Amino acid sequence: MNNFDKAYKDLIMYIDELKISNKKKIELFNKIDNITELFANQNNLDKRLSTLEEIVLDDEDLKNTGRDVDFFCPYCHKQIDIYMENDKMDITCPFCKNEIEIEWSMDK
Ligand SMILES: [Zn+2]
Repeated sequence: MNNFDKAYKDLIMYIDELKISNKKKIELFNKIDNITELFANQNNLDKRLSTLEEIVLDDEDLKNTGRDVDFFCPYCHKQIDIYMENDKMDITCPFCKNEIEIEWSMDK
């Protein structure tokens, strides 16, 4: 149990022992829950940020093994940014949804 959980439990027990009506207690519990929710959201935000950082880092790693290619769809002629990990891959055009087979030659 971390410090925050302990302080939370102490506070709940403290309120529970107060000589106040149950209605007041519930009001206080709700207020505390709102605050803990704020803290939890802050924690989640930190987690989300670090997850994002990991994804960005992973992406940088991938760029070392593959290549970004500007490709024009043969069906709708729109430019598609693709990431080639292999010399051959199948993609779906994000614009016209056609399946395209791409073969990349190392010589070019
Ligand atoms: Zn297309």
